[in-house]
Amino acid sequence: MTQPKASAGALISTIGLFKYFGDTLILDDINLTVQRGEVVVLIGPSGSGKSTLLRCCNGLEIAQKGIVEICGERLSQQGQLLPERQLDALRTRAGMVFQSFNLFAHLKVIDNITIGPRKVLEQHAEESRRLGLELLDKVGLADKADAMPGNLSGGQKQRVAIARALAMRPELMLFDEPTSALDPELVGEVLQVIRLLAAEGMTMIIVTHEMNFAREIADRIIVMDRGRIVDSGTPEMIFGSEANPRTRSFLAKVL
Ligand code: ADP
Ligand code: MG
Repeated sequence: MTQPKASAGALISTIGLFKYFGDTLILDDINLTVQRGEVVVLIGPSGSGKSTLLRCCNGLEIAQKGIVEICGERLSQQGQLLPERQLDALRTRAGMVFQSFNLFAHLKVIDNITIGPRKVLEQHAEESRRLGLELLDKVGLADKADAMPGNLSGGQKQRVAIARALAMRPELMLFDEPTSALDPELVGEVLQVIRLLAAEGMTMIIVTHEMNFAREIADRIIVMDRGRIVDSGTPEMIFGSEANPRTRSFLAKVL
């Protein structure tokens, strides 16, 4: 049997995803392909399925129907995930950053960053520390290596979480409302790190309510509503007058 295949440059593809929680349809025929180097911003009302879609993209959730491919390898299909070992390997290709940081509270900042590479990638302690310090420098926290997460601001915690995800050398990054839990004055420092990643050519899917940021950073904006992709286009199209009525009604509420 021939199977549908994502296009050559695709880093991630979902093909005909349907996801239910109980009897409720949460993702309704999602077809999304993100090319290497592309920055896709996902917007839409609360409850429209944005987080669920991101979680399906790295196997934290599994859709009952459809296919998810990362780098041309099949993460899940028709409700079946890859076996655990292969799944772990494929998951490292997609780094995820959550709204709530999810740092290990009992580990120093540097250990939060090195634990994954040491355990999953079997990096040596010195090597992982060296790379960890490099990444901390990149996110502007070179002086916080030995701090405990509890002593950091929200913006600093989120930058550690980004460094931790990058330490796994992902091919793409998935951001789920990375600034939504932050006080307004801390949002900018996190967005700045994401800007830096975009400038380096990192492939990203970003869920955000920061519309100015979306407009600035996105190659493509995808609008979700009630589990469906209802609009998709360049920022100029989505924020312009030719956007479809559902997009305009959503933007009218959030802008
Ligand atoms: P968004 O991120 O766009 O706000 P979500 O993907 O979090 O949307 O949620 C989409 C819908 O799925 C919502 O109606 C939500 O209540 C429901 N949902 C999300 N996670 C679960 C879950 N684990 N169990 C049951 N329903 C869920
Ligand atoms: Mg969400």
